[in-house]
Amino acid sequence: MREEIEAIKKKRNAVILTHVYQRGEVQDIADYVGDSLDLSKKAVSTKSDVIVFCGVQFMAETASILNPGKIVLLPDKNAGCGLADMATVEQLRYRKKQYPRAAVVSYINSSAAIKAESDICCTSANAVAVVNSLPQDQVLFIPDRNLGSYVAEQSSKDIVLWDGYCYVHESITIDQLKSLKEQHPSAEIILHPECPASLRHMANFIGSTSQMSRYAGQSKHNEFIVGTEINFVYRLKTDNPDKIFYSGSKAYSMATAGCNFHCRFCQNWSISQIRNDEVFKLGQNITPENIVLNTKEAECQTIAYTYTEPTIFFEYCYDTARIARKAGLKNIYVTNGYMTDEMLAMLSPYLDAVNIDLKAFQDKAYRRITGGRLQPVLDNLKKMKQLGIWLEVTSLIIPGINDDTHEIRDIANFVVQELGSDVPWHISRFFPAYKMKEVPVTPLHTLQVAKEINHEVGAHYVYLGNVKNNIKDDCCPNCGKEIAGVGLSHI
Ligand code: SF4
Repeated sequence: MREEIEAIKKKRNAVILTHVYQRGEVQDIADYVGDSLDLSKKAVSTKSDVIVFCGVQFMAETASILNPGKIVLLPDKNAGCGLADMATVEQLRYRKKQYPRAAVVSYINSSAAIKAESDICCTSANAVAVVNSLPQDQVLFIPDRNLGSYVAEQSSKDIVLWDGYCYVHESITIDQLKSLKEQHPSAEIILHPECPASLRHMANFIGSTSQMSRYAGQSKHNEFIVGTEINFVYRLKTDNPDKIFYSGSKAYSMATAGCNFHCRFCQNWSISQIRNDEVFKLGQNITPENIVLNTKEAECQTIAYTYTEPTIFFEYCYDTARIARKAGLKNIYVTNGYMTDEMLAMLSPYLDAVNIDLKAFQDKAYRRITGGRLQPVLDNLKKMKQLGIWLEVTSLIIPGINDDTHEIRDIANFVVQELGSDVPWHISRFFPAYKMKEVPVTPLHTLQVAKEINHEVGAHYVYLGNVKNNIKDDCCPNCGKEIAGVGLSHI
């Protein structure tokens, strides 16, 4: 395949620019690997007619703006950035009216439409310098609240934060960093400024991916604990083969295309709802044996069957899980809970943990928003519990669909009474997606109320998803200490 790509590249006079967050094999085929800023600069200086941008939409948009005469290709047109999607032009216009004196600084991880509404754009490497260069005393910083708070710590300006965040950086926990530091006491902690302040305050160095790479290369230290997207570690190791880099406990996540549901809010709709004639354009042929080998090579301890519905690829999952178990790996099944007894009986001996989505508590709503039925999901939740598999439940709270307090109480009662008070329940905040783009984001208040209802009915472990820094995590019912970000929904 490599030769094929090289031949097409030559024929089209193309250049391949790859972001450091891409998988190692995509980095290996690239002409240039770098962060958003590096690649934007490369895009300007290239003499090629075609730019193949292995990144996400906003990066290809930037390359296209900077190169109006060139063709910019994005290999996966649906490759988006959750952080960039957290700011819309309408929201920004509203905030500008609220803060008329403020300069608008947009992080490069924003759409072209947002950048067009901004006074100036910055990267994580130059955010502080850009903000400090402005004549205005007040700055509306969008969309990353963590990068914004990092800038605020180093600037005398009044920084108004936007409520966006990067899921990857917010998923890193204090406990993970502490545990890695205990295992590797001489390692330095290097983090991206998109990490929350609680993590940044533990770091020896904070910087963009290119700054981290430079720091690690020039440092006298030989070991580093890295807090950013996991694929970046591949780049660090390639650039600094004599140094050692650690990251948190990792799961190797895999999926095939398709799903037995058709959820109108599906975040992964581009693979779960793909048309039959497009299926074979995605992914790669890989045997279960090679999945296990890849998992070990990637230094992961677990395989997560996730993204789409693993029941769709049950046979493949079953073969992989058995080989993985023999190889000392764990198997995690992230599912909509819609499967037969026969399948459950075959697979359950190889499962270490399961997270089941309980999407509503009314059959009518279930049929309408997912295309499936409620009762089989409830039955399978109980069966999983009886089989003794570690079980967690996730519910996405969607305004106007399942946010009624009676419905939330019904779900809470079911979880506590049928599954037990100790089964963790993840209540997730909805963000507009797929066929529900017009539905608003779940208000924080709704999630707080849901959490209170859960405690009233006796649930011990309730976690709010997609709101980590706004609301505190639960406390252990035994020792009373805060439990920071545990659970399968963080995998
Ligand atoms: S079950 Fe999951 S993967 Fe399938 S459509 Fe619903 S949200 Fe998407």
